[in-house]
Amino acid sequence: MQDTLIHKGRIAEFIHELMQDSQVIAPVSVGGQARFKPIESPEEVEWGYGNTTVSPTEFILPHSESLFQFEQRGTDFNLTYNIDNVNRTILGIRPCDVSSLRMLDEVFKGKYEDPYYLSRRNHTTLIAMMCLEPGGSCFCSSFGTGPGLDAEAGADLLLVDLGEAFYVQVFTERGQTIMERVASMGTPATSADREQVEVLAVQAASNMPRTLDLEGLPEAMGQLFESAYWDKISRKCLACGACTYLCPVCYCFDVFDTCSQAQGERVRCWDACTFKSFALLSGGHNPRPSIKESYRQKMYHKFKFAIERHGYALCVGCGRCLEACPVDMDIVQVLSGAKSQVVEVV
Ligand code: SF4
Ligand code: SF4
Repeated sequence: MQDTLIHKGRIAEFIHELMQDSQVIAPVSVGGQARFKPIESPEEVEWGYGNTTVSPTEFILPHSESLFQFEQRGTDFNLTYNIDNVNRTILGIRPCDVSSLRMLDEVFKGKYEDPYYLSRRNHTTLIAMMCLEPGGSCFCSSFGTGPGLDAEAGADLLLVDLGEAFYVQVFTERGQTIMERVASMGTPATSADREQVEVLAVQAASNMPRTLDLEGLPEAMGQLFESAYWDKISRKCLACGACTYLCPVCYCFDVFDTCSQAQGERVRCWDACTFKSFALLSGGHNPRPSIKESYRQKMYHKFKFAIERHGYALCVGCGRCLEACPVDMDIVQVLSGAKSQVVEVV
């Protein structure tokens, strides 16, 4: 389908149409900060946001969720599963966050399919918004996860702000169905519009404030595992878990039961490898006894083991962990420093 221009004067109509058959989740202002929330009217949408502190992936993998209720009846258990099949549209999701969902898909659609995640994922439409002004902590271009977006990333539609109008690019059949429903609200985009989008994408990429050179990083980390570098680096980490909780690619979770006599529910909630007790075993042994081992594990999982296993790092360069860390741990500096350690040794 041909790309379309929707004049900003008609964007409210566009959103109203989306709201006909789905819950629309969009960036809104909460206490002066942008946060993805379900909206009740198009006027709530905060179009000028940079990036949100909390990723909208929380609507696919929530902070906590009830998996099922159980009730004992004699010698049997009655189970009631809580599969969420609400139709949702995430409007304005940034390219890096779209890419993070593609990575989470591989985890939750992998050897064991997770019906809770997959149901939400399959019922969610992604309408992405291209970044024209990367934030001060962004380094997505190091991973190819932004500031633009290609069809493989997994969004259904991509919006690009051209001033008076939004340029709308269709990536999937689901996106095409939406554009057919709203055809009367737009006009066909021209080749000049397309060129303007390409120029904006190049400008945004050239304005990326930070870069991380991944070349040779897993190999360098392979030589550094026992290095005192990790003692030095992790010394100021508080093990607060903020970097891990806010990372759109981190997916570790805990599962526990809440019971009252013969009935209860099983709950899943986020966990964080940077918490001191994350690896604690029931016998009292902790294979990662200090913050150093926890922090190092996080770095190795994302930037060595994942690259070797999947061919890509478990990071999209969103910069949230840099922004959130109370002691200014900077993942780009930590990893660049790790590489330079090996160069210095050689
Ligand atoms: S590790 Fe940091 S920069 Fe990378 S995706 Fe997670 S929060 Fe974003
Ligand atoms: S946010 Fe900073 S202090 Fe907290 S766990 Fe992460 S690196 Fe450590």
